[in-house]
Amino acid sequence: MTRDELAVLMGVASGVDRYFPAADDDVLDAWYELLADIPAAAAREAFRHHYRGTSETITPYDIANYWRARRQQPPVGAGAVRNDAQIQAGVDRALAALVERKALKSGEDLNTAQAIAEGETAVRRLYRSVPCPVCQAEPSRPCVTWKGQPLTKSPAHPARIEAAQAGVRVTSDESSRA
Ligand SMILES: [Zn+2]
Repeated sequence: MTRDELAVLMGVASGVDRYFPAADDDVLDAWYELLADIPAAAAREAFRHHYRGTSETITPYDIANYWRARRQQPPVGAGAVRNDAQIQAGVDRALAALVERKALKSGEDLNTAQAIAEGETAVRRLYRSVPCPVCQAEPSRPCVTWKGQPLTKSPAHPARIEAAQAGVRVTSDESSRA
């Protein structure tokens, strides 16, 4: 934030807190020295949060601490993205283990079974990255039959696997068709 933005916030603080130090140039310099790297919006939030919660005088520590805590909790959107990736990784691992066990049962040795499992997981991740041109399954959703059932004979419609391999991102224009 800028020195002016900080001065405004300190002015507000002294309006609600009679113990708040008068923001003369020296005080302002000292606070600015400590808080310059904190965004104005976060500092404003910290003041608001503080004075709604306590009658104690706010300190630069309170503001810096508020900013630190907030940065450790990323916005909901970012968290959700990471969770999706984590879920996908978990699904991939579970699927790989399943495929590996199946390959082992059918008499493959461990290395071959692991290679098959990794290959299937990679292929699955690849075709799941594009929508299906046949059944219109969205990215990351499995292919379904025209009755809405999962496919039993192949992991996905061949056209989808081909589309993914060609690196073609088939864009869905559902909205314009609907
Ligand atoms: Zn499909």
